[in-house]
Amino acid sequence: MPSAKRKSGRLIIVSNRLPVTITKRKGKVAIQPSPGGLATALRALQTEKEVVFSGWPGYIPESRNEQKFIDSTLREKHSCLPIFLTRREIDKYYYGFANRTLWPLFHYFTSYCTFEKSEWEAYQHVNQKFFKEIIQDSAETDTFWVHDYHLMLLPHLLRTYFPQTDIGFFLHIPFPSSEIFRILPWRNEVMEGVLGSDLIGFHTYEYARHFLSSVLRLLGYENEFGAISIEDRIVMVDNFPMGVDAQNIMTLLRQESTKKDIKKFQKAVKKKDRKVILSVDRLDYSKGIPHRLKAFESFLSQYPEWREKLVYIMLCVPSRTRVKDYAFLKQEVESFVGKINGRFGNPDWMPIYYLYRSLPFERLLPLYAIADIALVTPVRDGMNLVAKEYVAARTDDSGVLILSGTAGAEAELGEALVVNVYSREDIVDALIQALEMSEEEQSRRMRTMRQRIIDYDIHHWTRSFITGIEEIKNLKSQREHWKLTDKWKKKLLSAYHSGKKRLLMFDYDGTLISFAKKPEDAKPDVELKKLLLLLAKKRKNHLAIISGRDRLTMEQWLGDIPCTLVAEHGAWIRVDTRSSWKAQKTVSTEWKSQVMPILKTYEARVPGSFVEEKEFGLAWHYRKASPELGEIRSCELFDNLNEFLANTDMQLMHGNKVIEIRPRGVHKGQAAQNLLMMDTYDFVLALGDDWTDEDLFRALPEGAYSIKIGYGTTKARFFLDSPKNCRRLLHDLTKI
Ligand code: UDP
Repeated sequence: MPSAKRKSGRLIIVSNRLPVTITKRKGKVAIQPSPGGLATALRALQTEKEVVFSGWPGYIPESRNEQKFIDSTLREKHSCLPIFLTRREIDKYYYGFANRTLWPLFHYFTSYCTFEKSEWEAYQHVNQKFFKEIIQDSAETDTFWVHDYHLMLLPHLLRTYFPQTDIGFFLHIPFPSSEIFRILPWRNEVMEGVLGSDLIGFHTYEYARHFLSSVLRLLGYENEFGAISIEDRIVMVDNFPMGVDAQNIMTLLRQESTKKDIKKFQKAVKKKDRKVILSVDRLDYSKGIPHRLKAFESFLSQYPEWREKLVYIMLCVPSRTRVKDYAFLKQEVESFVGKINGRFGNPDWMPIYYLYRSLPFERLLPLYAIADIALVTPVRDGMNLVAKEYVAARTDDSGVLILSGTAGAEAELGEALVVNVYSREDIVDALIQALEMSEEEQSRRMRTMRQRIIDYDIHHWTRSFITGIEEIKNLKSQREHWKLTDKWKKKLLSAYHSGKKRLLMFDYDGTLISFAKKPEDAKPDVELKKLLLLLAKKRKNHLAIISGRDRLTMEQWLGDIPCTLVAEHGAWIRVDTRSSWKAQKTVSTEWKSQVMPILKTYEARVPGSFVEEKEFGLAWHYRKASPELGEIRSCELFDNLNEFLANTDMQLMHGNKVIEIRPRGVHKGQAAQNLLMMDTYDFVLALGDDWTDEDLFRALPEGAYSIKIGYGTTKARFFLDSPKNCRRLLHDLTKI
């Protein structure tokens, strides 16, 4: 197979369909680039980087030779890496899992969903096929931008093969609430597939929020302002509302051929000064076409004075005709149109001009130009570009857009008449409001929307997404810089080796051991005890375990290790096995009786949370609670307590799934200072994972080695990704 010239550092755009159209006439195959706005904008990125498209060419070759010809022409003349699919693959993966499972599910049409294992297997197989073909012609230095719901497993496949490569994923349809998404039997696999990306983009903030909520509920990954930490990777989730090619629309409108078409259409449908209502949709159940027709029928019967003074041009584009629900919908829509035209029409006037066909974009534009009202009322739509194109085409700022609140475009087109598509009255009211709207008001609304559409066009969209990938790339290299790499680990081990007096200060939970749902389950295992014992017994070492735990637990779990134990973040210290526990600061505990009832109410309100009483402190843990409820209530509790404890000698801290109240001035930094004063150390190592360990890192002398376990803002010099790797480091230390 001839190979596309392989250069490194290319942008590889992967989608179900290549932006080409292949036709065969009189035995001759012809390949034409598709003119669409998205394809054009993506091709425009070529000025910055070599752009290559990968996907199905939309054609099944009839012979091996034909496939060879198409393959080489696409590679050499169209910068495309084609993936050829068989009829069966298309049926099961495209018409099957993608369009009978994911599409209806993500559009909240659960009753239309089928959950066929064989279709899921075909989906996995085709994603694998894309992966295998793509890696033959790409390199780790390439950037991948994967598009849409057909290829949700691909980012993870690419990630396992190219761990360092930059991968973006954009979903062009809505992402549903986690309550809907969890219905999918293969939800975790799909979610993990997408999470192979560095950047995941959605049209709206709502979809991104739903996605983050599913990630948290199903896989337990938290996020910080959309950034999810997965092992040593960061996955950014953000919204990038897709725009249209507004400049191109304006250029096309100025062309003579378009002007001619506009005149022709005006003559044909606008005679007698009739107002034109327009809708343009693929014939899809998500577009709310029957709802709209019912509302239009109500409108005609409620406002007879408007009959014959308007026409409704309804353009329906054939879509997925091989899926049975779409065939039913076509019958339903056509019989409805017939019913309305039969009921209200007369030999001089037909209320609905129904067109069941697709028009090239240049022929669609004159329709936008002559329509007084665009009626865009999908039941659910990821974005809806028709609404944006209509606005862009209204160069004289006239016209009214009626838009349903369930279209992604609504987030940016608030000046439209926004309707609830399920309320017939809402649509009827909007129609009459639009028909009666003054020119000034039309212009005021349209001007604002049009400017927004011009500013945030398709080129802005492609550039923002690519910039998003670049930003993560920079973040990744910064992280790499602070990671405790083998080189730095060697330095650390050699400094430890030559140290004569070594102070080792280790946090416990999340550092030496992973978090458990119940704090009492995070007991030290045999291996950990052995490692700590070996380190503690070394003559040159002073080992200290500094924890937020109470002293009783520390004594029970770690009491036999000849080391210093610090409990309750520094409130208590046991210097060695021969000494007893000493309080670092004596403070009153009267406050507890006032704070305890507040914590108890939260314990009752948040199932799974509980209050822990320590000698000097109180803690409310919510690790076992529902993640979202826990997060919301913890912030609320934090605010309440903050006010309550103002001007007292107590301080409040929000740790990892815990809110703690403890005496002011008692923190791990203070404990570290006390330990540092016990001797003159020439090697200091501190390990910690939490917010409370930042005090410890801050108190360290210059040259000390400090390591944060996990990622996030820190004062530590290095990162290690997990307690598992932290333990590896302890192993290495014991070997010296
Ligand atoms: N479109 C077209 N010819 C037609 C009907 C529609 O070129 O006859 C284009 C239209 O200009 C728009 C796209 O198809 O760019 C439809 O996008 P939208 O987001 O509105 O809906 P989708 O079909 O993606 O669900």
